[in-house]
Amino acid sequence: MKGKNAFSQSILITGANRGMGLGYVRHYLKEGKSIIAAVRTIEKQTELDRLREQHADRLLILRLDVSNEASLVGFTKELKMVQPSFRIVINNAGISMEEKFEAWTMATFEKHFRINTIGPALTSQAIAPFMAKGGKLIQISSGMGSLSWNINPLNHFDAYAASKCALHSITIRLAEKLKAKEIGVFAINPGWVRTEMGGDDATTSIEEAVTDITSTIAQLKFRQTGSFLSEKGEIIPW
Ligand code: NDP
Repeated sequence: MKGKNAFSQSILITGANRGMGLGYVRHYLKEGKSIIAAVRTIEKQTELDRLREQHADRLLILRLDVSNEASLVGFTKELKMVQPSFRIVINNAGISMEEKFEAWTMATFEKHFRINTIGPALTSQAIAPFMAKGGKLIQISSGMGSLSWNINPLNHFDAYAASKCALHSITIRLAEKLKAKEIGVFAINPGWVRTEMGGDDATTSIEEAVTDITSTIAQLKFRQTGSFLSEKGEIIPW
């Protein structure tokens, strides 16, 4: 550890063990940043674990299941000990499952809302006191969460789409609530990316998506707070 303030200008990423979450960790480590990687399960001998061994002074792994309140309480306690100050928070953790209309279930909708909507809402609440003035809070959303843009309502990702749409409501509301601290709150659609969620046919690699998204995040201005953007920074209608 660099000492008490190793995480004073740091970046928090949820769902950081695989997919795009791990991609952001790799990217920001290369940029020399300090990172707190929040993961549902801490595992040994993974790529994330190897990165932590190589960069123990600026990569800290903490446990966080965003759908579990006790886990959020434990995570907040650990943050209090570390006393980070986040410049960027990426609420990236998410799930998506197909379920056909006429076979919709309460369980599938609840699961999506717990992880994709309530998870980032309560994570944002937990980390807001640790965000630096001028910081950026990113909600990783999906084009499917739009009510009007490219939504393909005939696919079977209805619970997923609805949970991301509700995340947009949280994004707009948080943008107002955090204005006084000059924290910008943004929803970003990563595009269609080759991860476990996106599948092998997706158009974009993790590296391409992460390059675009991190460049967009770097260019975001506080005056844009409360907006929904593509990975390349174009405005997407809610
Ligand atoms: P992956 O399926 O590859 O990774 C999902 C990540 O979320 C994993 O790290 C997983 O952890 C974590 N996660 C799931 N549930 C929880 C939980 N309850 N608590 C903590 N972490 C959890 O997905 P992607 O990298 O593709 O997706 C990242 C984000 O991008 C998501 O929000 C997704 O909705 C969004 N997105 C992705 C698209 C794509 O094409 N890939 C398109 C549009 C949006 P674990 O290993 O423990 O399961």
